[in-house]
Amino acid sequence: MALLTKLPSSSLSSSSSAITQFQNPQISTLKPFNSIHFTKTSCSASSPFTEKHSIERYQRDKWVFRNQLDPTPSENLPNFSTRDYEIALQLPELKNLLQVLREKREEGGDEERRKGAPGNVFLVGTGPGDPDLLTLKALKVIQNADLVLYDRLVSNDIMDLVGPHAKLLYVGKTAGYHSRTQEEIHELLLSFAEVGANVVRLKGGDPLVFGRGGEEMDFLQQKGIQVKVIPGITAASGIAAELGVPLTHRGVANSVRFLTGHSRKGGADPLFVAENAADPDSTLVVYMGLSTFPSLVLKLIHHGLPPDTPAAAVERGTTPQQRVVLAELKDLADKIASEQFISPTLIFIGKVVALSPLWPQYCSKETSELIQMADMGS
Ligand code: SAH
Repeated sequence: MALLTKLPSSSLSSSSSAITQFQNPQISTLKPFNSIHFTKTSCSASSPFTEKHSIERYQRDKWVFRNQLDPTPSENLPNFSTRDYEIALQLPELKNLLQVLREKREEGGDEERRKGAPGNVFLVGTGPGDPDLLTLKALKVIQNADLVLYDRLVSNDIMDLVGPHAKLLYVGKTAGYHSRTQEEIHELLLSFAEVGANVVRLKGGDPLVFGRGGEEMDFLQQKGIQVKVIPGITAASGIAAELGVPLTHRGVANSVRFLTGHSRKGGADPLFVAENAADPDSTLVVYMGLSTFPSLVLKLIHHGLPPDTPAAAVERGTTPQQRVVLAELKDLADKIASEQFISPTLIFIGKVVALSPLWPQYCSKETSELIQMADMGS
């Protein structure tokens, strides 16, 4: 879960009390953790990829991993109620800022503002976490922002790139904690755009892939505010690249499908797609799929996807906390559960997973385990 903590004072503008940054609170309960996990299972596919540095990529010196098993909050961390406190502080401060901007506008600023032109609203995709995956366009926009609204999937490293004078407002949703509703987010975007501010709505990955970006655009456009969308690298592309998995591959997968494991409250069964999705020649990428994954697997297998289809789950992909599990489809849900993966986790299913340079390691581990067992028996 996320907490809000203050940025170092050097990076703050004068009215800084409400400026906050997303931070992972469990980062202080770190234990070294092997990021690659293997399951004992049959494995016949061999990878044509021989990229020798790919394993090292997962063993970078400075990588650290949370201890998923220890939920005890660290004494050094602010209490969880800090978030409510910070958010409560933010709104009055933003209202004051809005008032200042209105007065400034009434006094008359540059030509555009005198004419009453609204500011810009940018819907910006930040990619899956690694700041190097940000586009140059996104970087330019976030450095010039007056107000940045951001949610849970926007990494700290990316928040560090926001210009020092921007006001930051966390609008993410974290179970159990108060946060802004979608309606409040709409109103905030609108109010600031109306006074001529450069408003940036940051979203993890691509804003138009499972990002509710469409709803925000729709609301603002109905109010006469044009929204500029800056695409981001969606988790599927960014994390597939980390794994060395081609989402499509001639002769292996001729299509790729992005699924969500969740649906809106009252919506149709999110797993209804399983029947059409059980295509061995297609790659499936499951977003928000942790809780429904065990039943998705059953349905996919029921509809004809081979149980030994290669699969992978990646938690916090492209960040220093990345963890990866590889397994055949039938075993992946158990593996995810035993490693206690939490959101955000992305799941890949399809023969292309066996093209990852990590897959042979998974296989050879199994082979060596088999050899050990054979040795013990002899
Ligand atoms: N707009 C985003 C997706 C938002 S839905 C995008 O284009 O990527 C949120 C889901 O995306 C998460 O539950 C998870 O399944 C996936 N996701 C996003 N970033 C991720 C990351 N760094 N690691 C693993 N999964 C991620």
